[in-house]
Amino acid sequence: MALVLNFLGTGTSQGVPVINCCCDVCKSKDARDKRLRSSVLISVDKQSILIDAGPDLRSQLLRTPLPMPTSVLMTHAHQDHTAGMDDLRPLIHQNKSAFPVYAEANVQERLRQQFSYAFAEKKYPGAPSFALTTINESPFFVNQTKITPIRAWHGSLPVLGFRISDIAYLTDVHTLPESEKQKLKNLDVLILNALRHKPHHSHLTLSEAIQLAKDIGAKKTYFTHISHHLGRHESVQLPQGMTLAYDGLTLYVNN
Ligand SMILES: [Zn+2]
Ligand SMILES: [Zn+2]
Ligand SMILES: [Zn+2]
Repeated sequence: MALVLNFLGTGTSQGVPVINCCCDVCKSKDARDKRLRSSVLISVDKQSILIDAGPDLRSQLLRTPLPMPTSVLMTHAHQDHTAGMDDLRPLIHQNKSAFPVYAEANVQERLRQQFSYAFAEKKYPGAPSFALTTINESPFFVNQTKITPIRAWHGSLPVLGFRISDIAYLTDVHTLPESEKQKLKNLDVLILNALRHKPHHSHLTLSEAIQLAKDIGAKKTYFTHISHHLGRHESVQLPQGMTLAYDGLTLYVNN
């Protein structure tokens, strides 16, 4: 199966540069230090699967070379992963159909609050429509594509990562239960969050992410959901087979 993955964004919740910050990273001229909120678009089996829809979605989709998303998988309900749902309106209007959203029940509850106008009985003309499918830890299919959810913990909040073929995307992870590591064997590509160097209550630090990536043992690991505290892209040293992702990076994976 041929799969193409584009990093739409690789930044933490405030993005990089941070508004009104004058640090070395925020002032960097390196394009790889400009990080929109984290999201990926995966082109596989003639569909285009978006993972998360953050507040930068409009500008991310305007610059992506891949076909426009045909569905979205939600990792969790934090604002930096959901706030861009309204930006799917042009696709909803062009396709004249509700946009397919795969999310856990607790995430759906938050989406119904956050986008109450999209779920209202009497909707304002032009409001978006979403077709929600409830997922849990069991594998599911988006058309013919098998998706294996991975349960992880974002502090005390349960989140889902997703494995598609031999790639896996896990963001906003702080701990990963041993049992879930079994689902991550023989990966070609692992994408994992690495916030900064200092410990955080709900995110992996870079050294914790490196250790977890070594345990999982994918052929190649990319780190995402990066804060300005991690340092400039070019200055971060990593073990062989591991690299920082950056916005616009495109991976071609053949199985
Ligand atoms: Zn986040
Ligand atoms: Zn900064
Ligand atoms: Zn989060």
